[in-house]
Amino acid sequence: MDIHEYQAKEILAKFGVAVPPGGLAYSPEQAAYRARELGGNRWIVKAQVHAGGRGKAGGVKLCNSEHEIQDATNDMFGQKLVTHQTGAEGKGIYRVYVESAVDFNREIYLGFVLDRSTQRIMIVASSEGGMEIEEISSQRPDSIVRSTVEPAVGLQEFQAREISYALGIPTALTQQMVRTLQGCYRAFRDLDATMVEINPLVITADNRILALDAKMTFDTNALFRHPQVAELRDKSQEDPRESRAADRGLAYIGLSGNIGCIVNGAGLAMATMDTIKLAGGEPANFLDIGGGATPERVAKAFRLVMSDENVEAILVNIFAGINRCDWVAEGVVQALTANPVNVPVIVRLSGTNVEEGQKILAKSGLPIIRANTLMEAAERAVIAWKNDRKQNTTVRAI
Ligand code: GDP
Ligand code: MN
Repeated sequence: MDIHEYQAKEILAKFGVAVPPGGLAYSPEQAAYRARELGGNRWIVKAQVHAGGRGKAGGVKLCNSEHEIQDATNDMFGQKLVTHQTGAEGKGIYRVYVESAVDFNREIYLGFVLDRSTQRIMIVASSEGGMEIEEISSQRPDSIVRSTVEPAVGLQEFQAREISYALGIPTALTQQMVRTLQGCYRAFRDLDATMVEINPLVITADNRILALDAKMTFDTNALFRHPQVAELRDKSQEDPRESRAADRGLAYIGLSGNIGCIVNGAGLAMATMDTIKLAGGEPANFLDIGGGATPERVAKAFRLVMSDENVEAILVNIFAGINRCDWVAEGVVQALTANPVNVPVIVRLSGTNVEEGQKILAKSGLPIIRANTLMEAAERAVIAWKNDRKQNTTVRAI
């Protein structure tokens, strides 16, 4: 789960990371008021969206008066900000963060990530802050400092000092840098984060180390341990199809094709999507109903897939090990009886109780297209989808 910059700064500040003073606003008026509260005469106004690259996309503005703040935020609120991380549809701007502007001499990149190969938290830092890490690693790979943390002892002071020296931080600021590094590490570990990124971390003109930007991502599976983090979730920044699914305990990823997939198990879902593509179609989603899917769960999955108006055919592909084909078949029949769908439905069942499952589908009298293998299912889905499309366009043409 991602959170906003202002939320990440609030968390990191509690762990001892220095951040500029700032205030959150939900309207241009409120933004101007926040600036007045902060005082001074130069402010940075920052669109709060769950994506990086806001600066280049016009989501970060330097303002010299309350009037400029009103103008800048008038243009931001309600707009979609499109950055290189958001995709073409962009992310809606509903909150802005107003901060006192800061003069700085140096920008540093600082990231904490989970390194799967060492199974450790890894610190990735660079003296070339301001640029995205992808740019740094392609243009100035020699500037990157990497260091993994031993979990039994945590981030030790000597290790933090070494990183500070490697980045060429002036020795008078080593202590501040150590405090920053240790604060980020503790926030990461204590709150079950999967990523903490400060870019840029700056050395100000008056010799302070300050986080000008902050990003945190959390392990969704650990959110139950951190209700105060879980409540920072902002659904306005999520794909509404995925929010609906997550709220109902289904694993769902929205895609841009037309064939909806209801599958059990992530591996089978991947294979199903590949096979659909091989057969000449495009998946509309990845929906994993999990093991032991009850008829109610299958029905829920159908409703969710049908709520995406791009879906023009549904492929149900179940390999029943823990699951039972008769339950799934029962679920499909219940779902389609209660809420008939106007798109072709293709069902492929395999594994436990497959014969009973097939019988239930056959007896239902519903127009379900059955298939025995995955390839057959994908091919039938693509053919049915194309035929259905043709018929619909003919009807429309008349
Ligand atoms: P991002 O583009 O989404 O990563 O947003 P950032 O918060 O990193 O802002 C983009 C850029 O704006 C930063 O790299 C800084 O160079 C600049 N910036 C942000 N805050 C300040 C500030 O207080 N003073 C000055 N002079 N520049 C700032
Ligand atoms: Mn940044």
